Amino acid sequence: MIQGNLHFLSKIADLLTEEVDSSELTESLQTLLQEFAKVQSINFYVYDNVTNTIRDCINSWNIVEDGSDIYEAYESIKGFDFVINTKAYKLPSVISDITLKIESLCMPIVKDGKDFGIIKLLFDSNTSVNMEFLFLMKIFASQVSLKLQNIVLNEQSKINVEFHDSMKNIAKIIETQYELNYIVPIIGEMLDRFITDHLIYVFLKHNGEFELVWPKACKDERIYEILSQITPETEYILTNNDKIGAFPLMSEENDVLGCIIARSTLDALSKRDISYLEQLTRQSAITINRANSYSKILQYATIDALTNLNNRRQFELRLGQEIATTKRQNTPLCAMMIDIDFFKKVNDTYGHASGDAVLRGVASIIKSTLRESDIPCRYGGEEFAVLLPYTHIQEAKIVGERLRAKVEASPIPANIEDSDIQTINVTISMGLAEFNNQESGEELFERADKALYEAKESGRNRVCIN
Ligand code: GH3
Ligand code: MG
Ligand code: MG
Repeated sequence: MIQGNLHFLSKIADLLTEEVDSSELTESLQTLLQEFAKVQSINFYVYDNVTNTIRDCINSWNIVEDGSDIYEAYESIKGFDFVINTKAYKLPSVISDITLKIESLCMPIVKDGKDFGIIKLLFDSNTSVNMEFLFLMKIFASQVSLKLQNIVLNEQSKINVEFHDSMKNIAKIIETQYELNYIVPIIGEMLDRFITDHLIYVFLKHNGEFELVWPKACKDERIYEILSQITPETEYILTNNDKIGAFPLMSEENDVLGCIIARSTLDALSKRDISYLEQLTRQSAITINRANSYSKILQYATIDALTNLNNRRQFELRLGQEIATTKRQNTPLCAMMIDIDFFKKVNDTYGHASGDAVLRGVASIIKSTLRESDIPCRYGGEEFAVLLPYTHIQEAKIVGERLRAKVEASPIPANIEDSDIQTINVTISMGLAEFNNQESGEELFERADKALYEAKESGRNRVCIN
């Protein structure tokens, strides 16, 4: 028996030196314990002193339900070595011959002399154990405690790091962006990624009504009910056993701009979740406020701040002028619509800052490839429009093809953090149309847009003509 015990302990020691997460650890321990002692299952529970609840390490840190006997075991084990079945024991100082029928065995996980959780083993029916086995388990528990502490610290600090990254990202977006319909989905996506056990909804107030801006749909009537209760004094609202939380987005003037809703699929929102959501909401509100004031200022601007091309407003103005000239002088005019291929993937892979760098890069290729008399603009998002005065469609096709090839062949510097790759390659799709003298500028670009759609449908990285 002694030899078997030593073998067991040495196997445990080996296991504890490996890099594992909580579920891998459990799996290996389970196999080992099954082999050694007819153990059916092993579970770890850790006390969370932020929320005063016990969490199930293996089941993605879910809170253990109130009525569970885990709470009782956690209380009664204090000052003892084990809870066997439902009774607490302290080991006698000498090994006696007593054997005990055993169904379940709880052992404390100790940290700095204080209990911080329990290990629970369930045994096959009709298992008996002796004192020697219990001594062995005491050693086992203290070894595993250390390992668990490390894992818990690691997994929690990972969550914290992710949280701070999200906050930083939200703050970063606004350095160059001011369109809410671009910013808000990014915020929603980021919150979603961070707060995984909850569904996130973002509402913005428009003409006094809350409008859903992320994700595409919300069918839960209770959410609309909560929204109707929000006032400028609301800090946050919790309902439905704390499974739904509403966090208002406030302006600097203390008006309600919108609201972030977190809806849990399983647990109530923990104190920690609430604290994170409050901070993320505050940061999002700052972002949205800044975007709002930017867009007010930019109403008077003519240049797009990110790419230095004409902005959309300026473009429409120039379009009107060019159409008038074309008609008067009876000269040709072409419209070009450009859309970067799979651009969402660039953002998703390298982050939005790198996405922005790519937009700037493509814009600068467009500018340097076109003639001085051509009028390029950032049409919106990752789309560009170009007016080509004094140009027939055959010429436009040559210019367009040259531009397409140039983009394809140009690695764009993108300043990617923590990576050896420092450039990104993208391709563009393009639609062309020539002005027919009967139509409006808007209709001309609608036709170019149709051709662009065709270019996308037929495989991307190509030029199509309407
Ligand atoms: P497709 O080839 O069909 O055009 O695919 P796509 O991924 O380019 O298409 P989609 O229109 O779905 O995605 C465009 C993406 O562009 C979504 C949006 O997040 C991103 N985007 C829009 N404006 C900006 C911006 O100013 N900066 C950054 N980094 N991304 C932007
Ligand atoms: Mg697009
Ligand atoms: Mg695109």
